Amino acid sequence: MAMELDERHRQVLGLERLRRKRGYREGWLYHLCLQKGLLTELQQLQLAGLVGDAPGVTGGIAPGRTAETEIGENGEVLLPRTLLTVELVPSTCWFSNLRSELSKEEWDRLRRPIFERAGRRCEVCGGRGTQHPVECHEVWEYDDEDHAQHLAGLVALCPACHEAKHMGYASSVGRAGQARAHLARVNSWSMDDVEMYLETQFEQWSRRSQHEWSLDLSWLRPFGIDINPKRGEKHG
Ligand SMILES: [Zn+2]
Repeated sequence: MAMELDERHRQVLGLERLRRKRGYREGWLYHLCLQKGLLTELQQLQLAGLVGDAPGVTGGIAPGRTAETEIGENGEVLLPRTLLTVELVPSTCWFSNLRSELSKEEWDRLRRPIFERAGRRCEVCGGRGTQHPVECHEVWEYDDEDHAQHLAGLVALCPACHEAKHMGYASSVGRAGQARAHLARVNSWSMDDVEMYLETQFEQWSRRSQHEWSLDLSWLRPFGIDINPKRGEKHG
């Protein structure tokens, strides 16, 4: 079924071409469409599969750095800031917490190089937590045609960014306000922007939660880790 494209759709597609050419993340496009009032068109194009990266294409770990490297107060090099996105794991997925499926040794083996690569700073906002500097977050990609969930990589996040990623969980433990405020601060969004963004994310989540998902953990194989998780163990 062909989609009727108007001038506004073509504007989004033009930005998408630029994004692909420069290797930017999808959040870059989202941010621009938000500013230009093109979110409806963006969503329609996403649903039609005309915008966005196919699973596996981005390679998972922070593929497109958009900002310039920053220098911190003490002259240290800070990681470039990127847009903070929310990642809601569909309720029908096998599990959403890789850590609980692995032994402590395996988890340490995976996360140590991630923390080192990031210089123990958040890979999104460049910040650090007070109790511990960063936490390891697993990035999933979803193939909405085949309903396959792929582990795409791991990133180091400060506790506040990590909490915002798991907005559903944050809400369930009474931390929705803090998580939303952090999202607004890191992305320079108004609280209205945050609500609009979350609406699209929760819509996507409820659409994805209508399907059973297959699980692809082949990303772990080069690390010598082969796990067969049981369905239904959920941790948020
Ligand atoms: Zn952060």
